[in-house]
Amino acid sequence: MNTLSAPENLTRNVLIGMGLGVLVASIFYYSPNLVPQTLSLGIEKYIFNLGGQIFKNLLMLVVVPLVFFSLVSGISSLSNMVKLGSIATKTIGLYLLTTAIAVSLALFFGWALDLSGSTGEVVPYTPPPGDSSLYGTVLRIFPNNMFGAFIENNMLGIVFISILFGIALNLTDDLTDGLSKSFERFNIVFLKIVLLIMSLAPIGVFCLMGSYVMDKGVDIFGDLAEYVLILIFVLFFHLIFTYSLILKFLANLNPITFFKKMRNVALFAFSTSSSAATIPVTLKTVTDDLGVKKDVSSFVVPVGATINMDGTAIMQGLATMFIASTVGVDLTLVQYGQIVMLAIVTSIGTAAVPSAGTVTLALILGSVGLPLDAIGLILAVDRILDMIRTAVNVCGDAAVSCIVGKSENEFNQEVFDSKN
Ligand code: ASP
Repeated sequence: MNTLSAPENLTRNVLIGMGLGVLVASIFYYSPNLVPQTLSLGIEKYIFNLGGQIFKNLLMLVVVPLVFFSLVSGISSLSNMVKLGSIATKTIGLYLLTTAIAVSLALFFGWALDLSGSTGEVVPYTPPPGDSSLYGTVLRIFPNNMFGAFIENNMLGIVFISILFGIALNLTDDLTDGLSKSFERFNIVFLKIVLLIMSLAPIGVFCLMGSYVMDKGVDIFGDLAEYVLILIFVLFFHLIFTYSLILKFLANLNPITFFKKMRNVALFAFSTSSSAATIPVTLKTVTDDLGVKKDVSSFVVPVGATINMDGTAIMQGLATMFIASTVGVDLTLVQYGQIVMLAIVTSIGTAAVPSAGTVTLALILGSVGLPLDAIGLILAVDRILDMIRTAVNVCGDAAVSCIVGKSENEFNQEVFDSKN
């Protein structure tokens, strides 16, 4: 029996969990007199919030060891280091390309659909501490303390350390009596932990959705409907058109099969709003269902979750236009170019956790001379947008994994074509 197969009917059960979470929480939210307020606050705190947070913690808990063991075992089993160079170059090149397309689409549609600003009042906004500048981002790749990087959840640093360790292990395999095999075994154990956590997903997403709805209800639009609708449109446009085109033309793969197999990953990303928390599910789907061999997926997926955020770049492009229009600033062509470059850099530096994109947005606004306080305007609607853009972010990681896997001959077409 294959003990590494996904829980049965996962998508169906996760969808049911989501629907029930929204339904039950809406009943409490919109009928405040149904039960005493203390009871409804207790349900919000101890069922929805606590349950949702535990589920996200469980996923995050496994991310660091999973990324470490899968990268180390993937790299240590490569036939030579030239292959790693080729995989890395293609991966990073494609990530930069898709992000550039994403933010350009955002700016194009923002202009073509004449996105206008808000009439709302700009309230003071204080960005949380942390260095998301280019300097700080590059420095995070090279931590000065190996264990510190793991403890601080510094994903860029962890990826770098894992690559370094994997290369050293690969080059010393004869001297270490096949130590790499042990990492392979640990990797299997962590994959099993992922599967155990995934079997709790229907309850986890029930709590997460419930906690979102109990907080703000389902009125997600506020007075920012135009910004929200154009943003959702561009996110779907990029998801459906850009990824279909690159899959078809760069790898000759059927986009419909790709999207069908990505539904669980997209649901996990949507309900956790975190590409990092979704890494375990993305890694499993890309390897077991889309047919990308482990040598490639173990590198492309964690790197993608850390540096590739097309959905975030789309939000940042449109939010910058929206804020410029709100404060009555006409952006010049040079500034549009600057936004494209900055969105590429900041999406690399954005942490793969909820709402991180709005933090790094401050960097773009500051660079084109717009007031940071205006970020407060879009925060009201950012919850649902974060969920959708995270789903786009992870689909981008998986699409690039397939393309790199195919071009490196590290791809199993039969697995990709198979039904699941
Ligand atoms: N939540 C996003 C992610 O994890 C990042 C963001 O745009 O806020 O991919």
